[in-house]
Amino acid sequence: MRKTKETAYAKINLSLDVLGRLENGYHIVKMIMQTIDLYDELVFETQDRECPSMEITLVSDSGEIPGGEDNLIVRAVRRMEAKYGIHRDLKITLKKYIPVAAGMAGGSTDAAAALRAVRDLFVPEVSDEELQKIGVTLGADIPYCVTGGTQLSEGIGEVLAVLPDAPQCGLVVCKPPVNVSTAEIYKRYDSLESVTHPDIEAQIEAISRGDLEGMARQCGNVLEEVTGTMYPEIGEIEKFFESKGALVSRMTGSGPTVFAIFTNGEEAQNAAEAFEAANKERDCRVIACKFIYRI
Ligand code: ATP
Repeated sequence: MRKTKETAYAKINLSLDVLGRLENGYHIVKMIMQTIDLYDELVFETQDRECPSMEITLVSDSGEIPGGEDNLIVRAVRRMEAKYGIHRDLKITLKKYIPVAAGMAGGSTDAAAALRAVRDLFVPEVSDEELQKIGVTLGADIPYCVTGGTQLSEGIGEVLAVLPDAPQCGLVVCKPPVNVSTAEIYKRYDSLESVTHPDIEAQIEAISRGDLEGMARQCGNVLEEVTGTMYPEIGEIEKFFESKGALVSRMTGSGPTVFAIFTNGEEAQNAAEAFEAANKERDCRVIACKFIYRI
């Protein structure tokens, strides 16, 4: 039996802009992505038994995600099977900690972890770039999740540029008790008449200078105009963290998770505890964490 473990980290969008839409419905994006210290754990095991087609068993502790062939993990493994002709058994065990449908790329990072694991077990010569090409056929955030860290993501998510590490800070993520469909948010976004676009180039400059306040000033997400209108609690949560000293608080991805950036970890921890104390009746998930640069 051979076995490999993968840590599948969540991300936040320090900024997210939508530049256009292709005829096939895909959106052209420009986003700064940052890996955070919140992760799912995956174990991949094989007995190296020859099978006519890959025999995949997924054991998951989450009742919120699809099992079997619809799961993004299994779909990613199937792409590897098709591309590299792998005909072996594979058992995958998932421990899910990243909130589902939250804007933190939970499914995408699991899929990216599956691509890395299948590569490591069966086709070690395959490069990260090849995994990224396979990943983008399943989801725009998957190519980024293959390597993580601080990156600029453009095109439909397949044009990646590694940036200098974003300055370390205190971070809180807070998911209100609503689940959001990314596809629906993009659909609603398409019918907005005007939006305020974030200055992503200015944010890249701030990151390159190691300027935490400058980076925070440029955080912006055009999808917040959609999700924030549907769920006013997003704005309320942001105001709470800003009143507790956050340099900025914004939504990540298509939401509804809000992140808040603080000067240091202690401030973030205090703000997370203050939020929990003040919102006992609200079923929010609040996590104080930090940026991760190498996965
Ligand atoms: P993104 O930030 O990439 O838009 P998200 O964090 O908003 O993603 P996910 O948690 O990835 O959302 O869930 C999106 C959908 O994918 C859900 O409807 C979920 O049921 C489905 N899904 C399939 N496989 C998985 C998986 N392994 N983990 C989480 N969701 C999965």
